[in-house]
Amino acid sequence: MSESRASAEVTPTSDLLILSNRLPATLTGHGPEGPTFKASAGGLATALSGLSAGSFLWVGWPGAEVPEPARPEVERQLREDYRCAPVYLTETQVEHFYNRFSNGVLWPLFHYLPDFTDFESESWTHYQEVNAIFAEAADRHAPTGGTVWVQDYHLMLVPHLLRERRPDLKIAFFLHIPFPSSEVYRLLPRRREILEGLIGSDVVGFHTYDYARHFLSACQRILGTETVQQTVVWNGREVRVSVHPIGIDLDHFDRLLDDPEVHAEMEDLRRSLAGRRVVLGIDRLDYSKGLRHKLRAFQSFLENHQRDGERVVLIQVAVPSRTEVEKYKELRRQIEELVGRINGLHSSPVHTPVNFLFTSIPPARLTALFRFADVCWVSPIRDGMNLVCQEYAACQRDGEGVLLLSEFSGAARSLEGALQVNPWDREGMAATLRRGLDLPAEERRLRMRRMGEFVRRNTSKQWARSFLEVARRHFESSAGMHPERWIERNIDPLLRSFREAPRRWLLVDYDGTLCPFAETPAQAEPSAQLHELVGQLARLPDTRLYVLSGRTPETMQRWFRDLEVGLCVEHGRLVRHPGSEEWEQLVHTSSDWMEEVLPTLQRHAAMTPGALVVRRESSVEWHWRRADPEFGQWQANELALNLSEVMANLPVRVTHGPKLVQIRDMGVHKGLLAERLAGELGEGHFLLALGDDESDEELFARLPEHAWTVRIGSHSSHARFQARAQPTAPALLRHIVQSLQPADRSGS
Ligand SMILES: [Mg+2]
Repeated sequence: MSESRASAEVTPTSDLLILSNRLPATLTGHGPEGPTFKASAGGLATALSGLSAGSFLWVGWPGAEVPEPARPEVERQLREDYRCAPVYLTETQVEHFYNRFSNGVLWPLFHYLPDFTDFESESWTHYQEVNAIFAEAADRHAPTGGTVWVQDYHLMLVPHLLRERRPDLKIAFFLHIPFPSSEVYRLLPRRREILEGLIGSDVVGFHTYDYARHFLSACQRILGTETVQQTVVWNGREVRVSVHPIGIDLDHFDRLLDDPEVHAEMEDLRRSLAGRRVVLGIDRLDYSKGLRHKLRAFQSFLENHQRDGERVVLIQVAVPSRTEVEKYKELRRQIEELVGRINGLHSSPVHTPVNFLFTSIPPARLTALFRFADVCWVSPIRDGMNLVCQEYAACQRDGEGVLLLSEFSGAARSLEGALQVNPWDREGMAATLRRGLDLPAEERRLRMRRMGEFVRRNTSKQWARSFLEVARRHFESSAGMHPERWIERNIDPLLRSFREAPRRWLLVDYDGTLCPFAETPAQAEPSAQLHELVGQLARLPDTRLYVLSGRTPETMQRWFRDLEVGLCVEHGRLVRHPGSEEWEQLVHTSSDWMEEVLPTLQRHAAMTPGALVVRRESSVEWHWRRADPEFGQWQANELALNLSEVMANLPVRVTHGPKLVQIRDMGVHKGLLAERLAGELGEGHFLLALGDDESDEELFARLPEHAWTVRIGSHSSHARFQARAQPTAPALLRHIVQSLQPADRSGS
């Protein structure tokens, strides 16, 4: 683990790092005076301008390859003029990572176009490599305990890679494109790696609830994570999932609307478009934007819905994008062909129905168009958010316009005043355009007012602030805020006290602590490595090792039969001390209550394919690890509700473990082992207890204060220390074994 890395170039106030593929400044050339840059006013740059000035450092690619000798000057200028730090990429890396993987696989798949994806191992390798370069850059620039906010689909592996390098950091991620339904997501050949990359974050943000829901579902189905409300639980860590629709920079449009240049443009439009109803489309030229669908629907409109003598013109602006990519060239050809066909069929000497512009439009003209258009038609087949529709609403000061909006754009969830369309329904869209053109003024104003309110309340600046606020609250509430409690940071004093103690006790939970959770009980069997580790621990001088588990004595005995290890099973009901063959009962229980509970469990198991009921000596369990993850969770909640009635007067408690509901005698818990050993624990003895879930809390709570109690994960706990994830426990125990090897005091 690296210690403080705050490099000299970062001022102490930069405890926030923004990480995105592109910097807000593009390197345009190297003149005799040094490098030149052009600021790019992207949506993200605007959104982040809402944060207080100088409060963050932006790390990303400057848009061009930078030769080694030019780098110090590039770095100096970026730092001083833009508060940015560059990440250097080669042309080959950009081609594979950006064009081929990010835009050739992730972009089309996440927009529900799997046929457009072209997965190649080589570009995936570059994607991994570039993500590692970004993680390394973030590591270099982030001060200890700082926050790193990673942006978008280009960098989805970074959160995990960064967490591995820097467990002290708080990591947030925001996805600016849709997250597809898990049915589509699972087509991705590297679906698992991408998800693991993302849940290296503490907080993951999306524009809409649908995307968040799809992400949670993919985590459950592909990684087998647990999901509790808006939180994914993975390796004991809690990852918060949050929904924040991004907005636009309202001030920018307010200023433009008062600009004389815009008024002049308006006059120009009034003259040249007199007598026409104007329908406006502004889209980046991308296959996700549904331009062909829109044009075909407009053709239907002209053929079936236009009134005699009415002149409706569709001004369709297509902003050039990824122009060097073959698929985009082909799309442009198709669209121009379609426009030609429509105009050929429906033009008259005085009117051309489609005005197609393959260009970007300067801000003043764009604002005038928004202000002027009778209808704005935004019908992407998928779109993460879509800001064009919000910009239109912002420019509709008199509220006379109508918005046609695809139900498959993220904005459809927020702009309820729009007339929603399904881009796949050509006739339906044509009819809705007719309805939009005919809408009475009062209804138009009412609808536009509702949209205006949303746009005003949810500006881009507010988006950045509110997301970071949620992230901050999550960081503070999770124990991740206390690096002094991380066992990884306390290993040296732990080992010292272990070596110096006259006698040592190790109390270690099995499932989820020593061994990762597994699909079936057979897979939870200790690996040869783990068995070897337990053996080494059991043979340490003056050391007694107990493995604790909810499992049966038979299972644990079979697994560890040949080792001199203590076993405490059935959640503390029975113990077998190291070297003994006898099982000792730590508490006497009655199982009368089980008869009352079992029928409810069995009924729920019968209704849930893959669920089963396990009856143990002092507990009954309802397992759903093999059930459909969402249905299983659903049924587990149902079960808990039903049980609360059945159990009202029984001496039992219900706990929710990983994919199981357990009903257990109140008197049985792992703390019984601590009580049993209390007489033998002397002053100055070394005591280590490791566990991962609620059932280990009773043990932690009953050990003396000087014990080294460690809980895996960031839950609040009685344990003095926390470990970040499951593999930590075996690693820690290996340290303990090794610590005695060079200087074994006992000499035996
Ligand atoms: Mg456990």
